[in-house]
Amino acid sequence: MNFLKKYQKEFAEYDKLDHDFIDDDKIWRQLNKCENPAREDVRRVLKKAEQCVRLEPEETAILLQNRDESTIQEMYELAHQLKKEVYGDRIVFFAPLYISDECANNCQYCGFRSSNTAVRRKTLSLDEIEQEVRTMIEEGQKRTVLVYGESPATGIDFMCETIKKVYSVKTRHGEIRRANINCAPLAVDELKKLKEVGIGTFQVFQETYHHQTYREMHPANTIKGHYRWRLYCMDRAQQAGLDDNGLGVLFGLYDWRFEVMGLLYHTIHLEETFNGVGPHTISFPRITPAAGTPFSEHPRYAVSDSDFKKLVAVLRLSVPYTGMICTAREPEKVRREVIQLGVSQIDAGTRIGVGAYTKSKIANQLPGKEQFSIGDSRTLDDVVREICGMHCIPSFCTACYRAGRTGEQFMKVAKSRFVHNYCIPNAIFTLKEYLLDYASDETRLIGEEVLKQHTEQFKGEPVYNTIFKNLRRIENGERDLRL
Ligand code: SF4
Repeated sequence: MNFLKKYQKEFAEYDKLDHDFIDDDKIWRQLNKCENPAREDVRRVLKKAEQCVRLEPEETAILLQNRDESTIQEMYELAHQLKKEVYGDRIVFFAPLYISDECANNCQYCGFRSSNTAVRRKTLSLDEIEQEVRTMIEEGQKRTVLVYGESPATGIDFMCETIKKVYSVKTRHGEIRRANINCAPLAVDELKKLKEVGIGTFQVFQETYHHQTYREMHPANTIKGHYRWRLYCMDRAQQAGLDDNGLGVLFGLYDWRFEVMGLLYHTIHLEETFNGVGPHTISFPRITPAAGTPFSEHPRYAVSDSDFKKLVAVLRLSVPYTGMICTAREPEKVRREVIQLGVSQIDAGTRIGVGAYTKSKIANQLPGKEQFSIGDSRTLDDVVREICGMHCIPSFCTACYRAGRTGEQFMKVAKSRFVHNYCIPNAIFTLKEYLLDYASDETRLIGEEVLKQHTEQFKGEPVYNTIFKNLRRIENGERDLRL
């Protein structure tokens, strides 16, 4: 079958819908209605946000349009507080693993687009994947997100083989314990196969929710050109039993305020359709320059650092119980700032070239093989140390998905703000492993201090003994202890 015609039957079904759940005009009406809102209006929304509930679009629009410095500061403080109430001060670490840069699509902004001759195409073999994973594990990684283009070279059966391969690699220091997936939208029968091989979060980013911009960025004669096929991908994932899903936007394609509203409408759609289960994570990458991709050098709607901070805080306030991912696309300074505004997950030690973990010690070394450039190219150890110095606790926890706390179960513990009772002890156990197995002397010193502080906070609680005993067990060589 012609690859580009693969989903024609499904496309036709979506084409029959009168409308989808993103109403561009309505979003703009909502945003325009509350330009420069009064302080009382902002504070009324913040009062509601304190309850740790999802906001309505009209409320989020008020926060997005707020330009008053003093209430923006209040927004930042509350965003930080809410993240701590839900997840504690742990920051979860992961690293992406690019499996292939072959892609049949031709998205204007992407270094992997089919017409880009500056990229030398490569799909990793199973042996090469094993080498990459070994390197990642030896550096301390426990969680990864596998990234694929949309190509006949990386069909669903190949994807499943690669996921099994990633989980099969064991070294003296352990293994990858959670493999999330970032790929093109799939059909339900394909998604069921991903479920069978045990993926963690299934991520598909809409890139832009604005219909016209989506059409301009993604040629109609490509699979990605079909807006609704992408928009309803998480509905199909839920039908296939994949109930931890990750949404995202590529900021810089269209107005950032519109895109935040799009993410919120997507969340509402999922919650209303699937028994309160919204996105497990939201990602908010900004466009960064990619080889052979002039569009990426000067994006029309480039988001400034101050607007970026605002959008991160507004997302945390609007969807307080969802994981927020800030990737290494962002420079160190910006990452430090947004960690204080509600971010709960980051990648570190990241290399995004296909085969790059084996080939280079740091990022940005393979310009002809990378989808974009990395802003924070520090090693995992450097970033772990920095997070320790910020009164946060680095975490490599994978407990929830492995204990079956996904979808509705996860939302229950996250929405009730109970989940940090798992997150912090698990962060303590996984940081302890990291310090023993991988850390530099400098990182170990500050990390042990962080462990002590976080363990002490449980003194007098029943879990204190478990934490204490597990730390001794880890010191004695046991691994992968979790609540
Ligand atoms: S306990 Fe669950 S939510 Fe918390 S860090 Fe671990 S896996 Fe994530």
